Amino acid sequence: MQKKHLIFDNTEIAFALKSDSELERAYFLFKMISIEPLVRIGTAATNFALKAHLPIEGLIRSTVFDHFCGGVNEEDCLPVINKMYEKGVSSVLDFSVEAKESENEFDYARDVTLKIIDFCKEIKAIPFAVFKPSGFGRFHSYEKVSNGKNLTEKEQMEWEKVVERFHVVCKKAKENNIAVLIDAEESWIQDATDALVTQMMKIYNTEKPVVFNTLQMYRHDRVAFLKNEHKKAKEGGYFLGYKLVRGAYMEKENERAEEMGYESPICKSKAATDDNFNAGLNYILDNLNDMWLFAGTHNEASSYLLMDLMAEKGLENNDFRVWFGQLYGMSDHISFNLANKGYNVAKYVPFGPVKDVMPYLIRRAEENTSVAGQTGRELVLLTKEKKRRKTL
Ligand SMILES: Cc1cc2nc3c(=O)[nH]c(=O)nc-3n(C[C@H](O)[C@H](O)[C@H](O)COP(=O)(O)OP(=O)(O)OC[C@H]3O[C@@H](n4cnc5c(N)ncnc54)[C@H](O)[C@@H]3O)c2cc1C
Repeated sequence: MQKKHLIFDNTEIAFALKSDSELERAYFLFKMISIEPLVRIGTAATNFALKAHLPIEGLIRSTVFDHFCGGVNEEDCLPVINKMYEKGVSSVLDFSVEAKESENEFDYARDVTLKIIDFCKEIKAIPFAVFKPSGFGRFHSYEKVSNGKNLTEKEQMEWEKVVERFHVVCKKAKENNIAVLIDAEESWIQDATDALVTQMMKIYNTEKPVVFNTLQMYRHDRVAFLKNEHKKAKEGGYFLGYKLVRGAYMEKENERAEEMGYESPICKSKAATDDNFNAGLNYILDNLNDMWLFAGTHNEASSYLLMDLMAEKGLENNDFRVWFGQLYGMSDHISFNLANKGYNVAKYVPFGPVKDVMPYLIRRAEENTSVAGQTGRELVLLTKEKKRRKTL
């Protein structure tokens, strides 16, 4: 590894925005969620307490919520957004309310996304909007469309509204010169999403990538998918935008495949996922004239690889076609050190009412347990910074 690669070790830059007490809180939090049984019991107890209307929102807010979320609404997130932008880190405001099922709720999610696009237009610190397909329509309908099943008349009407919601958001993003990231979810609804996003790209990406799809590289078929989409875009004369991630639903995917007796779409090993992710990076960097990249990852090796590929191709660190992305509350050592070197970096800043963002927070806690995640790394970095401050 070359010397320049040591940039992520700089904890002074990584945690410059954290006061001593915020540093202590982050340390305490990661220590707690590193204990798997505690996360399991805590999750169950929190869900119970919320359902029983026990007054625990304040406690959640001052601990996990404030660490992983920007606020309860978009205005609430502004101090966080502005502070990060002073250090060169942009934000992607992520309305993290999940598992909704009614047309009113889907319309509401669309309206929040439209409001954020207006917000983005005013504030340079927010270069992307984002939404989850299942936030705009019934999960079951995506599943049926993905399976090529016929929709009932009512479902068909609802589906047309889903398509319309995609259109309205992508159109407004284009008018406001903002890019829109469309998240990827479970593989059994992804075909419907992919088809819809491609439809949007054909219309709104004629001059440059406005609409970005997400490629989950833990799926073994995604490099082939990417190449095929590239071919179609070349023929159709439109641009592609991709958020590249490894994928967040691995256990669920493997369990379902086993239960239902089909081959899991997930790579056989972590190493195979890593190879796939890195192959995706290589492919997009080789074709930057046709497609832009948002690399959503907390993986240091992949981040270094992307920096290397950019250098090899003689790209400026802040080439407008390449973005690095992390989640708020995680991997600040990557985000802030990259921004300090002039790379384009944006953090997803989730927001929403405390109760409604619980599924998001639970996913973060689970992926940060000692077994699955990178809590060890966060704790080492936080300890290093605590020590550094004491010796000043
Ligand atoms: C900005 C941003 C946006 C995101 N958007 C989405 C999104 O739209 N959809 C989505 O699904 N996820 C999304 N994610 C989450 C992402 O998919 C990963 O879950 C998370 O970032 C961890 O992966 P990593 O690249 O940081 O690195 P690592 O921590 O190195 O990788 C962990 C990942 O590797 C894979 N993996 C682990 N073990 C195995 C194994 N045994 N076999 C095969 N693969 C394995 C899994 O995908 C796991 O999440 C996003 C993440 C970020 C930072």
